[in-house]
Amino acid sequence: MTDKFDVIVVGAGPAGCSSAIHLSRLGYDVLILEKGKVAGQKNVSGGVLFGKYLDKYGLINLIPNFEEEAPLERKITDHEVHMLSNVKTENNINSYKIKSITNNSLLSKLGFINTKISTGVDYTVLRSKFDRWFSMKAIEEGALLNTENTVENLIFSGNNVVGVQTTNEQLYADLVIDSSGVTSNLIEQTGLRAKLEPLDTYHGVKHVYELDKETIDKRFKLKNNCGKSLVYFGEFMHGVNGGAFIYTNNTTISIGIVFSLDSLMNKMTNNFDLIGKPVDILENFEKQPRINEYLKDATLVEYSAHNIPKGHKVMLNQPYINGYMATGDCLGAFVKIGPLIDGMRRAIATGIMAGETFDYARKNNDYSINSLSRYKELLQPIYSDINKSRFDSRLFENELAYTLTPKILFNFGSYDKIKCKITKDNISNQNSITKIQNKTGILDYEEDPDYSHIKINQKNCDNTEDKSWVPLCPVNCYTLVNNKGIFASFKDLYQYNLKLIAAKQTINVENDAKQLTLEDIKKSKVSFDHVACVSCGTCGVIGPKSSIIFNHERSGHGIKFRYG
Ligand SMILES: Cc1cc2nc3c(=O)[nH]c(=O)nc-3n(C[C@H](O)[C@H](O)[C@H](O)COP(=O)(O)OP(=O)(O)OC[C@H]3O[C@@H](n4cnc5c(N)ncnc54)[C@H](O)[C@@H]3O)c2cc1C
Ligand code: SF4
Repeated sequence: MTDKFDVIVVGAGPAGCSSAIHLSRLGYDVLILEKGKVAGQKNVSGGVLFGKYLDKYGLINLIPNFEEEAPLERKITDHEVHMLSNVKTENNINSYKIKSITNNSLLSKLGFINTKISTGVDYTVLRSKFDRWFSMKAIEEGALLNTENTVENLIFSGNNVVGVQTTNEQLYADLVIDSSGVTSNLIEQTGLRAKLEPLDTYHGVKHVYELDKETIDKRFKLKNNCGKSLVYFGEFMHGVNGGAFIYTNNTTISIGIVFSLDSLMNKMTNNFDLIGKPVDILENFEKQPRINEYLKDATLVEYSAHNIPKGHKVMLNQPYINGYMATGDCLGAFVKIGPLIDGMRRAIATGIMAGETFDYARKNNDYSINSLSRYKELLQPIYSDINKSRFDSRLFENELAYTLTPKILFNFGSYDKIKCKITKDNISNQNSITKIQNKTGILDYEEDPDYSHIKINQKNCDNTEDKSWVPLCPVNCYTLVNNKGIFASFKDLYQYNLKLIAAKQTINVENDAKQLTLEDIKKSKVSFDHVACVSCGTCGVIGPKSSIIFNHERSGHGIKFRYG
């Protein structure tokens, strides 16, 4: 392999592959470096991929026949939003309320919740298959794809980025396009932004269930291989900001929750008597009778989690330095407006725009910020969408959206009241370690016995008072260890203390158990094991750098999602 390229693209996700395809077609020498064994195996999405963006930046422009060629699941023709209440019992009858907003609803027509988001070429995808196909398209166009090769550092010459240092080698290029997603640590090396904070990101958890095609068609009222995107808000969130989604695939259903990480963290460290791990809220949602009907007899085949950037907080104002540009989630180009969860299309658009910018820079023979500023001009429509999502976040990402709004909708508007057998849909008290082990047990990992990609400072972690990254880790990488046992969530420790105190006294049991739990958290040691890590990035965001340093797995090790 030559060690000097026109462009090095870091990451073979949608952003990286689209840059590589665009640039290779123009005849440039492009190298894509991907940490996974194959593209897509470390990536997670909901995922509805919107196929069009403006008149030339959609997947349909890059690959006009993608509808015939790509491994797509179902064409999404319907986008629905539903507000769900918990189950209530009145006169011994259990029921819940549901308010549905579709294209024809008044709220949609008035523009409060926009469900008219279809572009006519929108499909559900599973990332493990889709990204692999997309990366093959880049190879067909002439790009070189080097997998199992993790980029660790940028190489600078003065103020210019001139290449990358991977786990094994140094590689050089006129331009480095960083498409390594929300967990990029290269971007911090450029000084374009600091480490992300909880307020800057969403955290998504997801289940994939297998179910035969006919049953999916019947339950979701689907025909001709079409699919639905369903987004839910409501009391099942227990006041955490965010929303749930259900997307229909061919023979699977993707179901998940996207939370505001700061709100989730707040809830889980202050209301740890209720929520043990983020997935508890997803499981609670799945128990809601309406959702439970969709999932009846389905088999859980994957559990995953990943962070997503809040575009309106972190999209870079200056997305380049000399010899370097950021695209996709790394740039922060993620838009969430009502039911619109839209990162892949933006990743593709920014990938193409970065490719166009390199072409312009090559013609000027100048890879400095003077030429690269062209990129910012191209990005203007995305900045404008990001501004709209900022407004939407004010409406939907605050406590009122989950307390007052449902009350107004259910008390004054029309809604359906549905009788059900389930009496209450409360979060279960199953021990988090066992619960998560059951989920990680169905995942594929390739352990790296000699290397941990996440480095923790044991003393600093032990001495941190709140240790909030422990319960927020979606798997069991972090646990609290003390003389009472090993705990993967604060809730489990609280449950232990509750029994202890209830055996001694009968008043103030809950309050005293909470106090004791807080003292125990402070005094507990932290144990860390990278083996089941899904590389979501959360501990790196929550933990201070003096305690936790998040890095990427090397040589293709770590999680290998089969669906994604
Ligand atoms: C639960 C959930 C639901 C979502 N739902 C939707 C949805 O319905 N629709 C939608 O459009 N978007 C959705 N998104 C967002 C969407 O997944 C992202 O916006 C999109 O994947 C961003 O693409 P990207 O190419 O920028 O980054 P990524 O997809 O994250 O790709 C980054 C690539 O870089 C590689 N990489 C990372 N670091 C390195 C390194 N140092 N060296 C080499 N390789 C590296 C990774 O392995 C990966 O292949 C969802 C996200 C989540 C988590
Ligand atoms: S160890 Fe960190 S990156 Fe890995 S799954 Fe847990 S929180 Fe996510």
